[in-house]
Amino acid sequence: MPIPQEVARRRTFAIISHPDAGKTTLTEKLLLFAGAIQIAGAVKGRKSSRHASSDWMDIEKQRGISVASSVMQMEYRDCVINLLDTPGHQDFSEDTYRVLTAVDAALMVIDGANGVEPQTIRLLQVCRARNTPIITFVNKFDREVQEPLNLLSEIEDHLGMDAIPFSWPVGMGRHFGGVFDIRRDRMRVFRAGEERRTENDELIDGINNPDIASRFGTDFDKARDEIDLITGAAPPFDHEAFLGGRQTPVFFGSAINNFGVQEVLDALVDLAPPPGPREALERKVQPDETKFSGVVFKVQANMDPAHRDRVAFVRVSSGVFNRGMRLKVARTGKEIRLNNVVSFLSQRRELVEEAFAGDVIGIPNHGVLHLGDVLTEGEKLQFTGLPFFAPELFQAVEVKDPLRTKQLRTGLTQLGEEGAIQVFRPVAAGGALLLGAIGQLQFEVVAQRLKSEYGVDARMMPSRYNLARWVTAPDSKTLQKFLDSNAANIAYDVVEAPAFLASSPAQLRVVQELYPDVTFHAMREHG
Ligand code: GDP
Repeated sequence: MPIPQEVARRRTFAIISHPDAGKTTLTEKLLLFAGAIQIAGAVKGRKSSRHASSDWMDIEKQRGISVASSVMQMEYRDCVINLLDTPGHQDFSEDTYRVLTAVDAALMVIDGANGVEPQTIRLLQVCRARNTPIITFVNKFDREVQEPLNLLSEIEDHLGMDAIPFSWPVGMGRHFGGVFDIRRDRMRVFRAGEERRTENDELIDGINNPDIASRFGTDFDKARDEIDLITGAAPPFDHEAFLGGRQTPVFFGSAINNFGVQEVLDALVDLAPPPGPREALERKVQPDETKFSGVVFKVQANMDPAHRDRVAFVRVSSGVFNRGMRLKVARTGKEIRLNNVVSFLSQRRELVEEAFAGDVIGIPNHGVLHLGDVLTEGEKLQFTGLPFFAPELFQAVEVKDPLRTKQLRTGLTQLGEEGAIQVFRPVAAGGALLLGAIGQLQFEVVAQRLKSEYGVDARMMPSRYNLARWVTAPDSKTLQKFLDSNAANIAYDVVEAPAFLASSPAQLRVVQELYPDVTFHAMREHG
């Protein structure tokens, strides 16, 4: 198939939610409905087999969170759907933010009882900032949940966009009768059960059908009044407004009962956009250009303990990837030959023969590829927008057994390149390495991974710093002067970018006033 057609049939989206809203369940059901897996429970199986594999995964298990995000690909109708999972816990938000840079749309899962929760709000802010289109699924209507009208206005408040219901629930909990498809003017009757498939659902046409009214009584009267109200008050669905992140289509259902899942899958195919152009510093890159380009948005070490490899996750931005092709790392000019690139078909890892814009390929490597790296057929390109956030928490790290200093360095370099933590090397002589994080849990994860993956017992110690700013200046002389005069507070990160470390916002302000020519950045963009 020619490149433009391949691009047009791709849909790449992230699934976002607060922990426990039902993201794993919905993911599994999406795969099930697309025919990518045969048996419900396979996604959970993947989770639990990985839990067994290392101490690091134990943290994930104990806290009931998903530390590592993953990628799944499936075919549905004529589309190739790439689903990127996002870690739900706020401590891993940095990783999640980067995943959001690799998608063209997001699917937001909300627990109907809890409404829009804090972690979802943070992720939504990133989607909003990037104008990522969002499809909303309100889950757990088989339980007593909030009134759908309240949920709708909560979604609107938090998203700052119009919520346009495509379906509407009739009753809830023990009285959950089903959902009324507003656009097709028919009701899908709810039946509990994990085994059921949508084909067998009972459908009743017409909002004025007396059969529905008599069967579902006051629940239906209420739903009909609400539908009248919202269709009268809300603007009609506008596809452009959705693509621009100004409207979100809303679906109701119960993921565990496979109810409402098909509608979400269809909405992804019918509404979500195919891959679009991507901004690089040099130029705008179109997805259907013939030459390959792609960007590393995530690096993960030791994904599979049996292989002990590092996998760089590359989102294809343009062109075609073919197995065995040679590509250049734009940052270093280094050529790599790609024979053993993997895709992420459901829970299996398979070799990729071909990939197009929107697809994610996994490249096993030994530290050649960093976060933010761009792969091309030779052109020098640097995509913008992959964020690194200035850490808000710092700890100094030392190895308990000095003979293992080298292993500590190796481990930290790799974990730093992976983005699990930020590693800073202070200029000051004798300074222990500093770890910078956004959330406290990152330190625990790193300590556990150092132990299980690198055999290093690390000692974490308090640090006097609690904020960092990357520094740049219009010319190298000004920058060097600043770095020399403030050496006690300067540290370099994994890509040798200098940062100023301060113990308080006041200290930072003083230095900023002293050096008006130097710019202090709370975010660094490329790898
Ligand atoms: P995640 O943390 O967002 O991935 O959430 P999970 O998919 O693991 O679901 C969290 C809990 O909610 C699990 O116990 C699920 O069985 C349950 N759950 C998911 N969907 C539904 C639903 O539609 N109805 C009910 N009652 N429970 C659900």
